[in-house]
Amino acid sequence: MPEKYYKEAISNKIFEYITQATEELQLKSYVIGGFVRDFILRRGNAKDIDVVTVGSGIELAQKVASLLPNKPKVQVFKTYGTAMLRYKEIEVEFVGARRESYHEDSRNPEVTTGSLQDDQNRRDFTINALALSLNKESFGKLLDPFGGINDLDNKIIRTPLDPDITYSDDPLRMMRAVRFASQLNFTIEKSSLDAITKNVNRIDIITRERIVEELNKIMASPVPSIGFLLLEKTGLLNKILPELIALKGVEEVEGQTHKDNFYHTLEVVDNISKHTEDIWLRWAALLHDIGKAPTKKFDKRNGWTFHSHEFVGSKMVYKLFKRLKMPLNNKMKFVQKMVLLSSRPIVLASEVTDSAVRRLIFDAGDDIDSLMTLCEADITTKNPKKFRRYHKNFEIVRQKIKEVEERDRIRNFQPPITGEEIMKTFNLKPCREIGQIKEAIKEAILEGIIPNEYEASHKFMFEKAKSLGLEVNLK
Ligand code: ATP
Repeated sequence: MPEKYYKEAISNKIFEYITQATEELQLKSYVIGGFVRDFILRRGNAKDIDVVTVGSGIELAQKVASLLPNKPKVQVFKTYGTAMLRYKEIEVEFVGARRESYHEDSRNPEVTTGSLQDDQNRRDFTINALALSLNKESFGKLLDPFGGINDLDNKIIRTPLDPDITYSDDPLRMMRAVRFASQLNFTIEKSSLDAITKNVNRIDIITRERIVEELNKIMASPVPSIGFLLLEKTGLLNKILPELIALKGVEEVEGQTHKDNFYHTLEVVDNISKHTEDIWLRWAALLHDIGKAPTKKFDKRNGWTFHSHEFVGSKMVYKLFKRLKMPLNNKMKFVQKMVLLSSRPIVLASEVTDSAVRRLIFDAGDDIDSLMTLCEADITTKNPKKFRRYHKNFEIVRQKIKEVEERDRIRNFQPPITGEEIMKTFNLKPCREIGQIKEAIKEAILEGIIPNEYEASHKFMFEKAKSLGLEVNLK
């Protein structure tokens, strides 16, 4: 590519200031890494710019800040020898070029100052080692010592140095390799793949938070199965999410088989990713069948069964999130809920009664649409007739949900009669009967015995109280 082309990458005014500061300090500086890669891939305007300088990154950052009209604050990270400033919506990070050497038990290397070439050597992949000169005499010149441009063209993930050493030094790179392959639809070069497979146990020295960060990026990629299949192939998945590996395989007893729930799961994740960007709904798709491994049984009468796999699966979600140190917040609860309810619309599809629809809306609440999206993604049959029929059935369920919701407003169900009113009416102190009456009213509404309205509920309250032997004054 001509230099003019790369100059376009650094046409933002911020680079002029960096060049001026570099000149004044008599340094050498380069923009490097993801920014250059993403420009060439045309992945949109990068908001993160990494600048490496042969000298002090902190000093350069401070100089740039002093030249900028708005004199932004420089955030200094002394321990890393880096500094960061914001220019408009862009974050620019400055670091001094360095050489790194690693020890067996840590992914934090010993760092000494080095040349640009040393700094490029420490980069994880050839496509991440590309640098553009920000020096006046060679502004926009590409420095690509490892054939990164070629690898971008050929869609290949390759390490600049010996892959075995690269991955062993910092095993997070194994996750990053898979993540980039998944995000960019690239192929990991064979020797890299072999090195990852060989070093798979080194992942143990990586914190779970960092692993999850990469997992989430794989999950957010357009076709997440690319990443998950690579994780499986290299043995990483068995270390990180053994629950999924447990779903692999097809067993046969007396001529009866069940589907391979691992590959089915990945298909569901890919399907759902066409309809939602929400990574938690994607997580729900990934985990919706994990309860099938521990609940799998064969009996002569029913063949293969997975009784209560949704319930068991939702409990497993908690343990899995906890083990991976993922936040145990409402996102986790959402995933649990989706797993727990994942078969409910399917049951409905064969017989859509109003009361069953009301119960589903009641249990799913505001997540009803997400649940329907999950269930539709769960249709992976290769039989086109069945495929059409199942989708048609869900269309009917969706329509029914709409009708019932418009009429009965169950989605954000608030009991028409409060516990307080029950206490007042019957002159009660807090006791079991109050809960029983409330539950009975709710049940009557969901069953369609009474409408979701105050008058009817009020009347029903007296009937229930009477049946519980409470004194009722029906004046
Ligand atoms: P993205 O912005 O999509 O997360 P990125 O790789 O561009 O990906 P960073 O993770 O911030 O963004 O990394 C910036 C650069 O630092 C990379 O392009 C790469 O050159 C280098 N780098 C990051 N992590 C590592 C690592 N573990 N080992 C070696 N080099 C790394």
